[in-house]
Amino acid sequence: MASRDPKSQTAEEALRESEYRYRNLFQAMAASFWELDFTPVGGMLRDLRKQGVADFATYFADHPDFVREMMRVTRVVDVNDQTVALFGRGDKAELLRPLDIYWPEESNDVYASSVIAAVTGKPSYASETRLRKLNGEVFDALFTACFAPEAVGAGKLLIGVIDISERVQAHAMLRQVQAEFAHAARVSMLGELTASIAHEVNQPLAAIATNASAGLRWLDRPEPDIAEVRALTKRIIADAERAANIIARVRDMAGHRTPEAAALSLNSVVEEAMLFLAHELQGHSVALTLALQRGLPRVLADRTQLQQVVVNLAVNAIQAMAQTPADARQLVVRTQFEGVVVRLDFEDSGPGIDPEQQARLFESFFTTKSNGMGMGLPICRSIVETYGGAISVRNREQGGACFTVMLPGTA
Ligand code: ADP
Repeated sequence: MASRDPKSQTAEEALRESEYRYRNLFQAMAASFWELDFTPVGGMLRDLRKQGVADFATYFADHPDFVREMMRVTRVVDVNDQTVALFGRGDKAELLRPLDIYWPEESNDVYASSVIAAVTGKPSYASETRLRKLNGEVFDALFTACFAPEAVGAGKLLIGVIDISERVQAHAMLRQVQAEFAHAARVSMLGELTASIAHEVNQPLAAIATNASAGLRWLDRPEPDIAEVRALTKRIIADAERAANIIARVRDMAGHRTPEAAALSLNSVVEEAMLFLAHELQGHSVALTLALQRGLPRVLADRTQLQQVVVNLAVNAIQAMAQTPADARQLVVRTQFEGVVVRLDFEDSGPGIDPEQQARLFESFFTTKSNGMGMGLPICRSIVETYGGAISVRNREQGGACFTVMLPGTA
């Protein structure tokens, strides 16, 4: 046997060593690993290019069958034990087949995006998706693909899968509990504001009664003044609509529907929330200033949830000023925008926040009130964060607290 060049021998050893390490890792990792052969996909993509298709993303979106075909021609070459445990039924050989059975239709776009990442030279791709086990069960997974240039050149692809179904379920449950809590808090807030609401409904009802009596008097005249009666009747209709509106708003607050994000005018949300607050402010001798900047970008949020934030922060401010001399109780609700961020401030003239407690205000069940529940601020935070925003508090130089809500505006 011809003696080998020592250099190439070391290179070979190094290669064997690295291969050994790779195999060890492949087997020992706690995640599910797959080695795929996607050589035929390369051919399909080259054909597409020849046909003049340059925008793969649009093509894949328009041709789901093509995406399914790419999966069908992608072969599973090897999997580790974790994969057998997660996807299989105990027999590794059973898993070595085309990829499409593991990918439900609903996850087509993730597969398509990973192909695009590979062909555009990205080093890796990761996304949450849904995958299918051999027994047909579909579960939530974190999918990662690694596009090492030498492996991709050889038509090989290494992918990793982590089962995140428990996490996703826990998140869904948490969201549901949060929603239930927010709803309970809204209903309890309505309870506290009953006097305000009754007052708001009473006003148009009283106006209806007055206008109807006046209308009757005009009709009872020897020469009924039809024009006057028409004007009064119109006012009666408007007041009836106002009362119906108030009832609808209260019903929204009390109702138990799934939140729906829509592009909202923050100013009108603030103005509508005042419906629940006007009488409350008056009853506590709080002078309200609405400093609403016109022309704000709209914000993407659920109307009722955002009203809940406004009412909560305003009620907290009113309660905080209980010990403030009556003629010094001031609440300024301010809206403004900075670039595409819309900002909502609640400035009060109460005692402000004790710096030692500041960090805990947004924690669940933190309260300094004898009858407080300590859920108002955490609920506000969870609502604001759901829509990509943030809430914070600072003490004002002139005394009192300022709560600030920032929300991304729609461009
Ligand atoms: P609760 O109102 O039931 O106490 P919150 O979560 O709404 O629950 O508020 C938590 C705590 O934050 C309050 O108990 C109070 O100590 C403090 N706080 C909230 N708003 C203000 C404010 N405007 N000024 C001073 N302290 C406030």
